[in-house]
Amino acid sequence: MSETKPRISFEFFPPKTDAGTDKLLNEVRPALSGLQPEFFSVTYGAGGSTRDTTLGVVSAIREKDIAVAPHLSFGGSNENAVGDLLDEYKRIGVRRIVALRGDRPSGMGGATLVYANELVEFIRERTGDHFHLEVAAYPEIHPEAKDYDSDVRFLKGKFDAGADSAITQFFYNVESYFYFLDQCAAAGIDKPVYAGIMPLANFANIRRFAGNTGAEIPRWICRRMEGYGDDSDSQYQFGVEVVTQLCQTLLDSGCPGIHFYTMNQVEPTRQIHSNLGL
Ligand code: FAD
Repeated sequence: MSETKPRISFEFFPPKTDAGTDKLLNEVRPALSGLQPEFFSVTYGAGGSTRDTTLGVVSAIREKDIAVAPHLSFGGSNENAVGDLLDEYKRIGVRRIVALRGDRPSGMGGATLVYANELVEFIRERTGDHFHLEVAAYPEIHPEAKDYDSDVRFLKGKFDAGADSAITQFFYNVESYFYFLDQCAAAGIDKPVYAGIMPLANFANIRRFAGNTGAEIPRWICRRMEGYGDDSDSQYQFGVEVVTQLCQTLLDSGCPGIHFYTMNQVEPTRQIHSNLGL
């Protein structure tokens, strides 16, 4: 493992129900804050659909001890609406934002979305250096990207616009990440690119999700998981083992830190974190 302590962060989504919110605030958050992450992040629904719930969860989490980073995209909003939200985040003491283009919500058809580099530019123009800006990166390349090089170039564009660091889409091929870092360095990117890691808690869901995001689950993992059939305990244990090994290899090989997509669950993130001895 590298000499400096790796940066650890945990991602949540705004729950749709009161029970989900209660669980997140009173169970998941306290359990994971015990692991002393650098920050929690809270996603923003496609098209801005969770504007108020994202703000609500961010406010609730902000009252406590650990920093929180709302995700943000223009979605269907104009500059005034996004500007107002930035002002509100400033007012409640938020210092980090994950700036995204976002995905198209169903019903938005082929509407034009504002690229993340333009959002980064807008935030910098409006709020200067107030926020640490995180952007998204894709070791296995964004599904809509024209080609590999252009996707890396557009990531460079987000840094040129003022981003401070990036978090990757989830991946299970460690080589894809390190190759991507090399390509980023060759393109002149000198800011950290943190690994986004999705624990393999619910294989069927993650497999579906991976299909939509262009992330690849290696064949050997799929075949092993399929072999367990309905034995969800074995699937779970194997998932913990595989993701622990992935994280260990990343950290041993110089990855600056890990952002866990927790799916609002304490486990298996806590188990993997403990296995890593962080
Ligand atoms: P961009 O960087 O704007 O790139 C989008 C596509 O356009 C890419 O194919 C790129 O190659 C291309 N491109 C980029 N810039 C330009 C340009 N200037 N001109 C032409 N082409 C360009 N989605 C949500 O809806 N809510 C969330 O909270 C959320 N959180 C995420 C967190 C992380 C860490 C990651 C990795 C993804 C997250 N996503 C979220 C998903 C993300 O919004 C989608 O992957 C989306 O399709 C792309 O967003 P982006 O910010 O990477 O877009």
